[in-house]
Amino acid sequence: MNQKPFNLTSEFFLQMDQTDPLRHFRDQFYFPKTKLGKEVLYFVGNSLGLQPKKASLYVEEELLDWRSLAVDGHHSAKHPWFPYHEFLTAQTARLVGAQPMEVVVMNTLTVNLHLMLTSFYRPTKKKFKIVIEAGAFPSDQYAVASHAKLHGLNPSETIIEWRPRLGEQLLRMEDLEEMVQTEGESIALILIGNVNYKTGQAFPLKEIATLAHTKNIIFGADLAHGAGNLALSLHEDKVDFAVWCSYKFLNAGPGALGGCFVHDKYAEDFSRPRLEGWWGHDKEKRFLMEPKFSPMKGAEGWQLSNPPILPMATLRASMELFDEAGMGPLRKKSELLTGYLEFLLKQIRLEEFKIITSSKPNERGCSLSLDFGNQGKMVVERLAEEGIKCDYREPGIIRIAPVPLYNSFQDVFELCEALKRHV
Ligand SMILES: *Cc1c(COP(=O)(O)O)cnc(C)c1O
Repeated sequence: MNQKPFNLTSEFFLQMDQTDPLRHFRDQFYFPKTKLGKEVLYFVGNSLGLQPKKASLYVEEELLDWRSLAVDGHHSAKHPWFPYHEFLTAQTARLVGAQPMEVVVMNTLTVNLHLMLTSFYRPTKKKFKIVIEAGAFPSDQYAVASHAKLHGLNPSETIIEWRPRLGEQLLRMEDLEEMVQTEGESIALILIGNVNYKTGQAFPLKEIATLAHTKNIIFGADLAHGAGNLALSLHEDKVDFAVWCSYKFLNAGPGALGGCFVHDKYAEDFSRPRLEGWWGHDKEKRFLMEPKFSPMKGAEGWQLSNPPILPMATLRASMELFDEAGMGPLRKKSELLTGYLEFLLKQIRLEEFKIITSSKPNERGCSLSLDFGNQGKMVVERLAEEGIKCDYREPGIIRIAPVPLYNSFQDVFELCEALKRHV
């Protein structure tokens, strides 16, 4: 794939697609079809990723093993069920830039967030505040508010927002720095979605972790829009904990399992309270059925229940593709693909809409958020009628996410041709 400046010709996107080293991954996914049988142009992989073709085979394999082996499948299935979650560990660690012991696939995102807050939000009289980004995803807001209440605190005095300046939509790092400088002694936790779901702004995890640690503040990241989108290095960046879901960029299907990262500096820190379950118990002694909980080292020690095999099977199908492609090459293509989208959008009459997302590649993931004001809903509906799927968020925001695993430069070109007809 070349890095020549973008241009408007069809030769350009054809050549980009032909020389794209990741182009064969597109054939690994099912695309929905329009009524006329044409493949939908799909730009909502940030909301629900497409189905990998291998997913049904992997699920079928487990159903067959269950049918023929029943309880013996725990040990004798082709992929034995007792350690099934471990088949995802190495790939998950590579995906988020972690050591294997730092990650585990379990539960769903908000559940994992609660488990992490239970252990890592330990307010004292003096140090009790929680910083979140303004406009955080509602579930994150509810989760932190509920933990404030669990500790007998008033959420409105506990939660402080990192807000955009008047007239701006994106957040400035220097404002977070100032907040930590002036209020840091009273802040216990910073929780940030590493790519904001609405504005598409990506935040620098390493800088935030470093900043937080200057005042002894725990830094947790919600990677719902980051996992499978950005090249992450959670271990090196010294993020304390992170959680994510797998149905968005990770293509593991509706309601898919979540992931959880706990930095290895806590791997053997058993002093923090946690919610306990038998699957977090030392696996060598799990079946001794002892009454006293003795947690496993690392992230696995936060597991509660034995792993649900069928949703783990779809996630395996998808994680194999990510592992084969690699986040480095994916991110490289992603920057070009989104850069191309931005280039084409700027040729359209821009007074009809405004690109909210930053124009700097290191301040965004693959998706761009466009503010169409009161035209937004209508434009998304018209695109949908033509078999082009984008996503709409109140008020007036259209999100477009070309994902590097299965979107092409031609997809982006065709989307922009259609947009021209509607603005
Ligand atoms: C998608 C998303 C969620 C969804 O939470 P679930 O528990 O998976 O339903 C939570 N937080 C953020 C930031 C999200 O983008």
